[in-house]
Amino acid sequence: MAQPLVDRRDLDFVIWEQMDAESLLKNDIYKDFNKKTCDMIITEARTLAIKEMLPTLAEGDKQGIRFDKGNVKVPDCFHDAHRLILEGEWQSLAMDPALGGQGAPGFVSAACAQYFLAANYALFVYASMGNGTAKMIDLYGTPEQKEKYIPNIVTGKWGGTMLLTESEAGSDVGALETTARKNDDGSYTLSGNKIFITNGEHDLCENIIHPVLARIEGDPPGTKGISIFIVPKYFVNDDGSLGEHNDIVCTGVEEKHGIHGSATCSMALGSKGQCIGYLLGTPKEGMKVMFNMINGARMATGLQALSCASSAYMLAVNYARERIQGRNLEDFKDHSAPSVPIIKHPDVRRNLLWMKSYVDGMHSFFHYLTSCATRGALGETEEERERFADLFDMLTPSIKDYLAVRGHEVCIQAIQVYGGAGYCQDYLVEQYARDCKVASIFEGTSGIQAMDMLARKLGRKEGRVFMSLLEEMQKTIAAAKGIDGLDGLAADLEKTVNRLAEISMTMGKRAMSLEFKVAFAHSLPFLNVIGDTLMGWMLLWRATVASTKLTNGAKKKDTAFYQGQVKTAEFYIKTILPEVLGKMNAIEAGCPAAIDIEDEGFGGL
Ligand SMILES: Cc1cc2nc3c(=O)[nH]c(=O)nc-3n(C[C@H](O)[C@H](O)[C@H](O)COP(=O)(O)OP(=O)(O)OC[C@H]3O[C@@H](n4cnc5c(N)ncnc54)[C@H](O)[C@@H]3O)c2cc1C
Repeated sequence: MAQPLVDRRDLDFVIWEQMDAESLLKNDIYKDFNKKTCDMIITEARTLAIKEMLPTLAEGDKQGIRFDKGNVKVPDCFHDAHRLILEGEWQSLAMDPALGGQGAPGFVSAACAQYFLAANYALFVYASMGNGTAKMIDLYGTPEQKEKYIPNIVTGKWGGTMLLTESEAGSDVGALETTARKNDDGSYTLSGNKIFITNGEHDLCENIIHPVLARIEGDPPGTKGISIFIVPKYFVNDDGSLGEHNDIVCTGVEEKHGIHGSATCSMALGSKGQCIGYLLGTPKEGMKVMFNMINGARMATGLQALSCASSAYMLAVNYARERIQGRNLEDFKDHSAPSVPIIKHPDVRRNLLWMKSYVDGMHSFFHYLTSCATRGALGETEEERERFADLFDMLTPSIKDYLAVRGHEVCIQAIQVYGGAGYCQDYLVEQYARDCKVASIFEGTSGIQAMDMLARKLGRKEGRVFMSLLEEMQKTIAAAKGIDGLDGLAADLEKTVNRLAEISMTMGKRAMSLEFKVAFAHSLPFLNVIGDTLMGWMLLWRATVASTKLTNGAKKKDTAFYQGQVKTAEFYIKTILPEVLGKMNAIEAGCPAAIDIEDEGFGGL
């Protein structure tokens, strides 16, 4: 039986053997954590996820969200599991102890969140979403705001949200029409309608603190004129008790393709003219404040997709080992030969290894970026901090979108492994595919992430940040060249990395030229090939660690695992990277058809 949710052996490999997390634990702020305590925390999280959260996944999907006259009920089975999450303080694992969190290292909280998100994304987010709200208030709030809101958000007694989207302001947040008028007492009266608000209303907590983007009357159009306000569902009195209901109400919930246990709410602010909000930070710096939450939310979205993919892959491997169908290829003509588990069939093996390549690569990439965030904050020198903070910032669109897109594809392939059974709702792979799809839509769609990479990230610091990413890849390639059996793979990856450097120059120049529209028509394939190359890097890196362990005499129980690393890198580099080189050729050629075609040429008129 394959392990549920996340392959623990792989998680341990990534954290301790590949990313050398122990070196991070030397930092003074982690003095209460050592390898043993970290392992224990992850094991506890795994138990909670498997025993208490996973059983709510299919049930929550079936019962879904219920809306009645402004009230929203989450699936009944969520209540007990939610209480256990809060009792264990899992929602605040990585939060600063000064704010009431436990200050665990980022890689520990990411590992725990992997289990929770794989077990039930919709459920866990009710508890964890307030983190972003609390952090924003901590960074930009007044002392009174901090005291009033943060403690109860961190314990999960109160929830947190983010209110950006409006019907005419989705990707283009700057088009929002919610307004704010200043009152004599310094508060603001807000008026507007928000849509698609995750956890905008629900029955799992006493109060909900909404960070709301709005424009103060008279401020300029676009993102530069946006401010951010704290809008509590219930007012909070000076003694901390709850007061009247604010004039912010849920007017409906969406019926969605997936994540049926997640409340996606339409919110009306000020339908009685009495929605009161409190400015967070200074006027017109709303986007800057909100971006603190958005970057964290983008990482979390990547992790959400990876978690769906990892669980779907575990289920698919398990099914392939158990499902008996067809004879071995060599016994094709022998009708008396026994039928075998489908994992014996070459095409199923290819598909499983395809899935494993991406799940493993994404797993390493996520923890690599988590370590960049940690090193960016805690690195020993200013130079180290800057280097890793820059890498983290530059790769945010990749972690968000590449994991979303490939994670969803892995879920789809898991359905394929199950055959007809996979297409039915009796098996979780079908739900994972539905639940995962949203990751490439919210927190900025694929198209928006691709534009961000091309327009902002690629050219940061005159392209030096991108070059430093390529240098990191070259270090692994150089190490692999010195390892017997990996030298050929290293040479192939080097070709891809060099080619990526070339097309990045082409894309950068094209984006600044009269052909800029053509460049942006290829921006998503460009974001994808960056991700594809990152996967090759991560898998070769894994193979170098595993090969070294094998050479030094790995324990018997680890041998197949390490050999699996080498075979996965071989598969990816030999069968998938050639396709990536083809995609790079197409990007470089820059076919303008998508721009040149007349609108009417798309047909259907
Ligand atoms: C389940 C769910 C939960 C959500 N939770 C929240 C939440 O908690 N808070 C919140 O504020 N929002 C939330 N959202 C909203 C989400 O962030 C938006 O749906 C998303 O940003 C896209 O906006 P849109 O739906 O208006 O699509 P549009 O902006 O209309 O985009 C439609 C298509 O056009 C493309 N497109 C649009 N503009 C451009 C451009 N300039 N260049 C290239 N392509 C472009 C997009 O990539 C997309 O493919 C949620 C959405 C969903 C589905």
